[in-house]
Amino acid sequence: MSETPVRVRIAPSPTGPPHVGTAYIALFNYAFARSQGGKFVVRIEDTDQARSSRHYEEAILRALRWLGLAWDEGPDVGGPYGPYRQSERLPLYQHYAQELLERGAAYRCWCSPERLEAVRQQQRQAKLPLRYDGHCRTLSAAEIAACLRQGQPYVVRLKVPSRGETVVHDAFRGAIAFDNQQLDDQILLKSDGFPTYHLANVVDDHLMRISHVIRAEEWIASTPKHVLLYQAFGWQPPVFMHMPLLRNPDRSKISKRKNPVSLDYYRRQGYLPEAICNFLGLMGWSMPDEREIFSLEEMVQAFTFERIRLGGPIFDLQKLDWLNGVYIRRLPPEELVRRLYDQLITPLLHRLRDTLYLRRLIPLLQERLPTLGDFHSLAAYFYQTPLRYDPALLVPKGRSARETANVLAGAAEWLQRYEGPWQDAELESCLRAYLESTKWDARSLFMSLRVALTGRTASPPLFATMEVLGRELCLTRLEDAVAALQKQS
Ligand code: GLU
Repeated sequence: MSETPVRVRIAPSPTGPPHVGTAYIALFNYAFARSQGGKFVVRIEDTDQARSSRHYEEAILRALRWLGLAWDEGPDVGGPYGPYRQSERLPLYQHYAQELLERGAAYRCWCSPERLEAVRQQQRQAKLPLRYDGHCRTLSAAEIAACLRQGQPYVVRLKVPSRGETVVHDAFRGAIAFDNQQLDDQILLKSDGFPTYHLANVVDDHLMRISHVIRAEEWIASTPKHVLLYQAFGWQPPVFMHMPLLRNPDRSKISKRKNPVSLDYYRRQGYLPEAICNFLGLMGWSMPDEREIFSLEEMVQAFTFERIRLGGPIFDLQKLDWLNGVYIRRLPPEELVRRLYDQLITPLLHRLRDTLYLRRLIPLLQERLPTLGDFHSLAAYFYQTPLRYDPALLVPKGRSARETANVLAGAAEWLQRYEGPWQDAELESCLRAYLESTKWDARSLFMSLRVALTGRTASPPLFATMEVLGRELCLTRLEDAVAALQKQS
């Protein structure tokens, strides 16, 4: 029997901070690849130009490296099937979209946004599923030629068969049949020449010789479209395996609204990477002897997919705290010292030793400093991290913890996208623009921001303080404050 070599991948979109869900899927891909002597690939799916950023890509790779989930091929290490960043592969997708057009498996669509909106409006009123009505599917050759001659921009859509069903084979669930009438004529290539997720994902999985697609359950609904694409190209699809979604203790899907989901948050709070890997390894999977504590290496040794359980695993932070404690107690003291230095003390020492940094913050404090001895009590938040928050101070009168978490998360996202200079006056206009986009009053918003950034209600002027703290620290503190509020609510 000729076995195809095992090649698996994760394909994160760099549109937000590194997510625990990405680490969870990465862990199972990694364990499977290593247990089979296969390859583990990281591919960056950055085709959503407006939402993707290099900053997020770097943060995702850094977080995965921190967890010890090393990959064999990827945008940073290269490999034989590169480039591993989709934005660097655009001509390939255009080529394959053209091929689909020639094979009659896709068609060009010139519908204007206004027409599409009118169609959706009608469907909404008739309580029908919202989908493209196939207007351009039946254009005659002469009509198509005329549109092309006029050079009007178009998108390329998948021509879903109007009858029958498309069957997805999921290795955990067996055959899942989708009625073709329920599938939308998905856009594959946008008018700006960028592919959508579906086209790029299928083309790359094929070209990168991916043997198994191990991803989260939420992608099952996209898979019939992928299967249709594999059929249209005449390609052998990979084995699909959809991992169960992580859930909150109330069984809802984990989301940043309820639990901290950023890996950076867990690192800053002093969770150990081995505890996080162990914790994620318990999500829907178990060791043959059901023991709860195991290393990444032991997981790889014992790994098979036979012990996957599909009932949504609970992302239980109390369990993570317990596991982390176990790992901390197991560390030899000198190793614990090293971890404390790396994760906690070094960032702090670094700031305190940097006279340039002190020189910048001193003007903010000089007027408020009765004695030199008061420096630490006044300035600790300039070098100490993470802060301990009193949630009562973060939430202004008349607002709930949930609303405050949302407004601070929104501010973090707003600042994340802000590309201007990180300076007092510019930061003020940036955040005033954000204020406009919320229903908050300036006083409450800026007070919550102040507490999130400094841990206190009184500090030197907010925007000057932000300038000195710097971009990184401001963003991480906003994230930490949001997490502290979520633990509350
Ligand atoms: N870019 C998708 C994501 O962000 C990839 C999903 C897949 O693995 O196919 O998760």
